[in-house]
Amino acid sequence: MSLRDADPEVADILIAENRRQHAKIRLIASENYVSQNVLEATGSVLTNKYSEGYAGRRYYEGQQQIDRIETLAIDRTKDLFGAEHVNVQPYSGSPANQAVYVALARPGDRIMGMSLAGGGHLTHGAGVSISGLHYDAVQYGVDAESGYLDYEAIEKLAVEARPKLLWCGTTAYPRTLDFERFAAIGHKVGAIVVADMAHISGLVAAGVHPSPVPHVDIVTSTTHKTLRGPRGGMIMCRQQYAEAIDKAVFPGLQGGPHNHTTAALAVALKEASTAEFKVYAQAIVDNARVLGEALAGYGFRLASGGTDNHLLLVDSTSRGVVGHNMARSLDAAGIVCNYNLVPGDTRPAMRPSGIRLGTAAVTSRGFGAPEMKQLAAWIDRVASARADEDTDKDARIRVNRDIAAEVRALCDRYPAPGLAPV
Ligand SMILES: *Cc1c(COP(=O)(O)O)cnc(C)c1O
Repeated sequence: MSLRDADPEVADILIAENRRQHAKIRLIASENYVSQNVLEATGSVLTNKYSEGYAGRRYYEGQQQIDRIETLAIDRTKDLFGAEHVNVQPYSGSPANQAVYVALARPGDRIMGMSLAGGGHLTHGAGVSISGLHYDAVQYGVDAESGYLDYEAIEKLAVEARPKLLWCGTTAYPRTLDFERFAAIGHKVGAIVVADMAHISGLVAAGVHPSPVPHVDIVTSTTHKTLRGPRGGMIMCRQQYAEAIDKAVFPGLQGGPHNHTTAALAVALKEASTAEFKVYAQAIVDNARVLGEALAGYGFRLASGGTDNHLLLVDSTSRGVVGHNMARSLDAAGIVCNYNLVPGDTRPAMRPSGIRLGTAAVTSRGFGAPEMKQLAAWIDRVASARADEDTDKDARIRVNRDIAAEVRALCDRYPAPGLAPV
């Protein structure tokens, strides 16, 4: 019996989400469209298998194919990033980071990472996360004026705090990260330096962002952002930390690995090693720059004045609209993003000044410079309608609905990878 016949409720939800992913322009910086082949491997029979342990050292029999797929994913990661040791079992980015804590720190130890407000991740010491609750977290941010990381201030703080772990890596920072500098700062104070390249691992794989691998001790990543793999996590490290990391992932933190995800990751890694992927990653960065320049032309203030990578932080209050109103109106116009704090933001996190825009997903469906300029024009129209005191609510709804129809027409011309026809 088909899913449609057996469970129409779930089938309807899947179809509706397929339609939404087709018909809207997805600018959430952490999202992407995986290829049909990655989807196929994700939905494979490998989901049926338990395989606690590591290749050649499992606690269940029947691992002939599982050992092969996990070894393949590890070898492809090593080749792609030049890593000494790799663990592909973390269920996602947050558990990968948690495994680093389990491996290399004890509860109460001092750790240092970037604040949420500065563009860091929850798992880098935020008070609401286990990383801030169980460890003595010291946080750095970006310079409120320039929007750039201030490495001198970070070094000064590291010298004072002498953390056991120094985290670098971001979720909302539009500029190139100087991993060599972070490594020098951390090693000067005796810290183990961990780079979390979750957002940028696809850019790193393609060589359009410098790699942390030669410089830091541990590298963690998600697999589903710019890398365009299934939802998952991975850890790369120097050989000296290999045993501690592997033990922390299993049995320290997790049980059986998600083998269907490992298979899909292997597929994504092969895709990411192609010349075509280099072109794709460069196009992501080019698109972000073009979108940023066009938005600046419409009077939007950009954090740090622009971007070097796949994302933009846009201060929408520069156009008279607070971030959550901007994000909500854009969604009504068929353009999906998230609201975000901007450097030096004085507004609360749930009511911040800006929005975060990323170009990975739109680049996967083939958008280029002309579409970025069109996108900026739509964002300008949404902001104008939202900010204008004289535009009544009905008129605003009409503007957003008109744009949503134009968005839909553009999306119809660029079918996204992996989606069923709509
Ligand atoms: C997305 C992200 C994570 C978390 O990944 P999940 O898969 O959502 O757990 C961790 N670190 C950084 C820097 C991220 O951007």
